[in-house]
Amino acid sequence: MEERPRRLPRFPRDELLEAQAFDGVRAVLLDMDGTLVDSPYDWPAIRERLGVDHPSLIDGLNGLPEAEREARWRELEAIEAGATAWATLVEGARELLELLRAAGLSLALVTNNSEANTRALLERFGLDFDVVLTRDSGLYKPSSAPLLEAAHRLGVPPGRCAAVGDSRHDVAAAREAGCSPVILVRNPDPELAARADLAFADLRGLMRFVEITVGRDGEGG
Ligand SMILES: [Mg+2]
Repeated sequence: MEERPRRLPRFPRDELLEAQAFDGVRAVLLDMDGTLVDSPYDWPAIRERLGVDHPSLIDGLNGLPEAEREARWRELEAIEAGATAWATLVEGARELLELLRAAGLSLALVTNNSEANTRALLERFGLDFDVVLTRDSGLYKPSSAPLLEAAHRLGVPPGRCAAVGDSRHDVAAAREAGCSPVILVRNPDPELAARADLAFADLRGLMRFVEITVGRDGEGG
């Protein structure tokens, strides 16, 4: 029997097409919590405390009876304010954004967090985006609407936008928006990774991929 040549290890999911994943990409739409910023959220516990079992926490809260809705929203905002105080920058986040900028890509932050928390975190960590879209816009994941709006504000077709996030909401929203590639980071769920175009255990992995594949135009092949 013929011995098959061993493939050189390259990326976590070693498919030839992945090398072209960034071709034509002009902008990157990034999630914040869990992707660029680590905030101590225990979402299952928070959902239980707020009494929400809707797949979208925001929709679940908005669907509560009016008397309860306001109180639960205030409770969530207090939890978020506490998490914001303890938040840390994910290793490699600043370097990743600098790398994407250096590659000539526009950057948008699309987060389900509030405007106040988001602005506080961006200021604390010195992060800068061309467009910042929070849930205060009235648009939030897993709907594709915030990603489409961010792409529109950047003046880039959604199909020319890469989307980076850490959750099933991010993957679902990016798919529906037609973003390409859809990139999952920092989530060990193999089933979710299979729904993304690319998956990386950490931001360093994504950085290596960008360094190797972006800006190779004219190299042929
Ligand atoms: Mg996230």
